[in-house]
Amino acid sequence: MSSGTAVANQGSFQDELNPFLAMAKRFDVASDHLGLDSGVREVLRTPDRELTVAIPVLMDDGSTRVFKGYRVQHNFSRGPCKGGIRFAPDVHLDEVRALAAWMTWKCSVVGIPFGGAKGGVICDPRELSITELERITRRYTTGIMDILGPDRDVPAPDMNTNEQTMAWIMDTYSMHVRRTTTAIVTGKPLSIGGSRGRAEATGRGVMISTREAMRTLGLDPHESRVVVQGSGNVGGIAALLLHREGYRITSISDMYGVLNNEKGLDMPAVLSYLKEHRKLEGYAEGEYSSDCNQLELDCEILIPAATENQITSRNVDNIKAKLIVEGANGPCTAEASQRLDQAGVMVVPDILANAGGVTVSYFEWVQDRMGYFWTEDVVNSRLEQTMATSFQDVSSVAKKYDVSMRIAAYILAIDRVARVYRLRGVFS
Ligand code: NAD
Repeated sequence: MSSGTAVANQGSFQDELNPFLAMAKRFDVASDHLGLDSGVREVLRTPDRELTVAIPVLMDDGSTRVFKGYRVQHNFSRGPCKGGIRFAPDVHLDEVRALAAWMTWKCSVVGIPFGGAKGGVICDPRELSITELERITRRYTTGIMDILGPDRDVPAPDMNTNEQTMAWIMDTYSMHVRRTTTAIVTGKPLSIGGSRGRAEATGRGVMISTREAMRTLGLDPHESRVVVQGSGNVGGIAALLLHREGYRITSISDMYGVLNNEKGLDMPAVLSYLKEHRKLEGYAEGEYSSDCNQLELDCEILIPAATENQITSRNVDNIKAKLIVEGANGPCTAEASQRLDQAGVMVVPDILANAGGVTVSYFEWVQDRMGYFWTEDVVNSRLEQTMATSFQDVSSVAKKYDVSMRIAAYILAIDRVARVYRLRGVFS
């Protein structure tokens, strides 16, 4: 291959990995099916607001560093914006834009009255102390404060942020507005207005989506091997709940390596080992490898629950699973998704499969505003109902338009937002 071709291929592969372009491709296909006019398309594709803030922070060693943060609000026609905040060294604006748009479609697919937003701060949490993280969080919150609010934009945790981060955001916002405002964020600790069941909600939604898809495919859970990429909030909990339902988890990973056991992993034991050691490496009841193409392992069900762009045009043809349930946001590129559709692999798309988190975030926001808190059974049964109904709604659209579950989810979501947009009209 000439070096010119290599550079050209590299360029197109970079485009394939751009999450906003991936979102836009699916958006265009779904909009074609809906026959959306060009004006409505333009409105729904374009983020409503993008804010970039400088975050000067006094470091523990006495020096000052300036971090960069973003908050993108994609669309608020159906209600306040909702979306997580991630802290990572590789956060970039196109990624935050894509994640914000996915939040709009996700809220719409599961029928909750929110629009979509996302935030990110470029930093490496592994190199920061807890006090530095707190100062970054508080200064970032102050920087984006003017566009936040329980009726405007309600953040939540995402990669490398957690309930402690949400507690700091809630406190910072409350100090500025001079009253305790619990509904400003979700994913908070229970003692300051968090919801029971929120921590497990995304993993539980992935489990429910897997179960519904297995019914559709007529596959037996007890005969099925499950490979889970990622063992964090989404992957770890999904694996645990599927294990409880009788599925055989034959592989799970973290960012350092992969733990395999053909007979099935004892998930409660794996997770308690992980909690203690912070790594899967060293767990005795399985084979651990730091050099394993986990996504290409033999299995019936594959759950990518780590990060974006894991299944691409470069490895998609080696995937063996019959069913892929997207725990992570954007784990399959648009090119890979097309090839999976052609190969007859069923993919439950991220905007449906991992919507359990935002659904219980909505329940948390409702409980905060009522000042009345539900039992875990009530939260879980309402989540169950929302996820199962949404899965059936998307399946019906897939049949009606003869499209994949992913395109069906986009059609359903975009149609709901477009209808609201037409009813409200253009304010000018
Ligand atoms: P997390 O930080 O709790 O866990 C991420 C896991 O992935 C960790 O086990 C980490 O070691 C592992 N990991 C990272 N890179 C990896 C790689 N290249 N290979 C294998 N493992 C890798 O994060 P999370 O909350 O579980 O989020 C995971 C994904 O799910 C993200 O895409 C996030 O946006 C999405 N998501 C999360 C929620 C939520 O409620 N937490 C909701 C919807 C979507």
